[in-house]
Amino acid sequence: LKSLLKDPTLLETRAYIGGQWVDGEGTFDVTNPARGDIVAKVADVSRAQVAGAIAQANTAQKEWAKWTGKERAAVLRKWYDLMMAHQDDLATILTAEMGKPLAESKGEIAYGASFVEFFAEEAKRIYGETIPGHQRDKRITVIKQPIGVAASITPWNFPNAMITRKAGPALAAGCAFVARPAAETPLSAIVLGVLADRAGIPAGVLNIVPSSRASEIGKEFCENDAVRKLTFTGSTEVGRILLRQAADSVMKCSMELGGNAPFIVFDDADLDAAVEGAILCKFRNNGQTCVCANRIYVQSGVYEAFAEKLKSAVEKMPVGDGLADGIMFGPLINQEAVEKVEEHIADATSKGGEVILGGAASTLGGTFFEPTIVTGATPDMAFAKDETFGPLAPLFKFEDEDDVIAMANDTIFGLASYFYAKDLSRVYKVAEALEYGIVGVNTGIISTEVAPFGGVKQSGLGREGSHHGIEDYLEMKYICMSV
Ligand code: ADP
Repeated sequence: LKSLLKDPTLLETRAYIGGQWVDGEGTFDVTNPARGDIVAKVADVSRAQVAGAIAQANTAQKEWAKWTGKERAAVLRKWYDLMMAHQDDLATILTAEMGKPLAESKGEIAYGASFVEFFAEEAKRIYGETIPGHQRDKRITVIKQPIGVAASITPWNFPNAMITRKAGPALAAGCAFVARPAAETPLSAIVLGVLADRAGIPAGVLNIVPSSRASEIGKEFCENDAVRKLTFTGSTEVGRILLRQAADSVMKCSMELGGNAPFIVFDDADLDAAVEGAILCKFRNNGQTCVCANRIYVQSGVYEAFAEKLKSAVEKMPVGDGLADGIMFGPLINQEAVEKVEEHIADATSKGGEVILGGAASTLGGTFFEPTIVTGATPDMAFAKDETFGPLAPLFKFEDEDDVIAMANDTIFGLASYFYAKDLSRVYKVAEALEYGIVGVNTGIISTEVAPFGGVKQSGLGREGSHHGIEDYLEMKYICMSV
């Protein structure tokens, strides 16, 4: 991997704690999912070392909070500039450990960096409030202060952006940060530490603690009194565990959990646009995002035409090693991911679904899988309730607007939803009726640093991105003064 980088010193495998590069207790392997070979052996940080990192963060945070917003903004901006200056190398590292096509990795680096840029600017705008007093002698002021040390646990599907989306606002707010990246993709996290160091972010303000011992580190984050904020992106299942653990210390939590996104195509939709949106939405990152369309509902008048158009577009898209040119589908992250897609296909075909494209592991071997389309999907099939997290597009047929809204909302999840329609009153009505934190109307791509990303129901707590995103890292203090 080093030989593929313009700046090989970006490939660091140690932990970044208190501004120092340190070994862990042993190492763990990071493998390239396209080839199965070991890319690096990475420091396996222990729970005791994480406790040490939290202590260093706690000390550093006190000073960092004293910096003016403008001072913090300046170094964060440098951090952003370095990410963009090294975009190609960061993308190569990301593809090597995670598998997504290089073009998507470059996109992720720009997306991830955008949160650092945006929140660097927001650092200057952490405004308080004055409220007219309730008695003649009273003056009321509200100030916002950093919550303290924030700790993050993040997944492998966006190894860069899931960290910057949290660390950007945390650092801008004046918090210190301890990040435990997914064990599949620690290199993309560690390189953020390399660049933070170069940008002049003070020692201890940002700490990266790779570790294969997820549950132990999770416990340390929840039980250590110095951690005042836990921010997690991952499955609803693990989110529930962490919320339970965090209850004892009444820690502030942000949870970015699973989704089961509906994608609805009405008869009056621009069908070509809907097909294009469905491809981006369903198949980006090989279906491995929490906002990927999981259930595609198509109104009966356009069902056959939509299925045909989707098939003829997707069958031309190449599967292969993400480091090669022009690849649209890399490998899935691991064998379990392949098995889940296979189970969902088998379940659907056993209940009358028809595979019109793909349907099996790719002849390339490994964890490559053919992009798959299933028609005749029904609510009793597994993917109607459970997120596939793979390249499987099930097409449900519907007749009526109210029915499809009811079906779309019939889930414990409430992250992203999408629909294509032209009738203006329908657009308003459906957008308001969907019980989701995010609604894409006539678009399949909704992620941006300037908008609040997050879910309702069991998809999570809190919002990331936009000026709202920094609130999760701030406490409000009300000062009542008698004059
Ligand atoms: P995914 O399927 O995306 O990997 P998970 O929720 O399983 O979603 O994992 C998200 C992150 O949470 C990963 O970094 C994983 O290592 C971590 N994790 C898994 N189980 C626990 C746990 N019990 N405590 C803390 N972190 C955990």
